Amino acid sequence: MDNHFDVIVIGAGAAGLTAGIYLSRAKVRTLILNEGAVGGQMVLTHEIANYPGVHSISGYELARNMKTQAQNFGCTIKSNLRITSFDLSGDVKKITVNEKDIYTSHAVIISTGGRSRTIGAVGEDTFKGKGISYCATCDGDFFQDKDIIVVGGGNSALEEAVALTKYASKVTVVHQFDHFQAFSHYVDEAKKNPKISFIMETAITEFIGSEKLSSVRLKNLKTGDIMAMNIDGVFIFIGYVPNTEKLEGIIELNEWKEIKVDAVMKTNLPGVFAAGDSIAKKYRQVTTAVADGTIAALSAADYINNLITRS
Ligand SMILES: Cc1cc2nc3c(=O)[nH]c(=O)nc-3n(C[C@H](O)[C@H](O)[C@H](O)COP(=O)(O)OP(=O)(O)OC[C@H]3O[C@@H](n4cnc5c(N)ncnc54)[C@H](O)[C@@H]3O)c2cc1C
Repeated sequence: MDNHFDVIVIGAGAAGLTAGIYLSRAKVRTLILNEGAVGGQMVLTHEIANYPGVHSISGYELARNMKTQAQNFGCTIKSNLRITSFDLSGDVKKITVNEKDIYTSHAVIISTGGRSRTIGAVGEDTFKGKGISYCATCDGDFFQDKDIIVVGGGNSALEEAVALTKYASKVTVVHQFDHFQAFSHYVDEAKKNPKISFIMETAITEFIGSEKLSSVRLKNLKTGDIMAMNIDGVFIFIGYVPNTEKLEGIIELNEWKEIKVDAVMKTNLPGVFAAGDSIAKKYRQVTTAVADGTIAALSAADYINNLITRS
């Protein structure tokens, strides 16, 4: 019975840790299984300055606080492992870890988060968080009166380019095609903003700097011409990838591979809930992940209570 829990939470980011806090505090026996480091995207975030009630905190510290809080209520957390199979269809859910360890539960919460799509240019990994950002809401404020680039041509890129003009002195939108994929009202708004200029049919091929990003190399995709540009920051909005690859064919996903949930975070499978950045939603923040995790936990607890009442 050591490997049997009331609820198994998959993923220990903000959503999963919040679910762990709520469930364990309600004396629901809970296990969190996490691939990678506990904290998820929070630990990639140098400073979080928009978590209500906390003026400023490093993502690492916020994650550590959430982890300790969950463990203090009795939540078991296992990390740096690999989930090798999910059996979520029956009344007893079965999760296999590292091909040999089997954990079972009555309910499962999936909170596997996601990642921003990257360009794949030289230096991108080096300057992530040191001039390169994938989140205007999170990092825009750090680029007050700075000269920045926004990469992308969809709704997010143009909407965020306009939003970033609140902080930056100059925003250059760099896009690989000669036209935008964004809705025309986003394009019109960006075009009439005096702080925004556009470089079309162009891609960043290299990020350059020492401690922080200081310039980029740009390639004109039509002519092949290369040019260098000094820059304080680059915001990349070329799409988002939910971490749901292992769940394809197991639970219902939408066309963007996000998990479909209802208002109380139920998926299409009884006893399976989902929360955080891996679900279908528009705004991805720590606060929204925490809210989803809370709702999923309360729904899972309710599901377990109903099972007990029926049996
Ligand atoms: C650079 C950066 C800066 C940001 N800054 C801010 C900010 O300032 N303010 C703010 O509110 N938001 C910010 N965000 C967004 C915020 O961090 C996320 O919206 C939030 O943390 C998502 O939490 P989550 O729990 O849904 O997912 P995640 O944080 O992605 O956590 C998911 C966890 O699940 C694990 N996992 C993935 N697949 C599996 C699997 N198959 N099995 C088991 N485990 C798995 C992952 O390793 C990870 O630990 C930022 C994001 C980034 C990338």
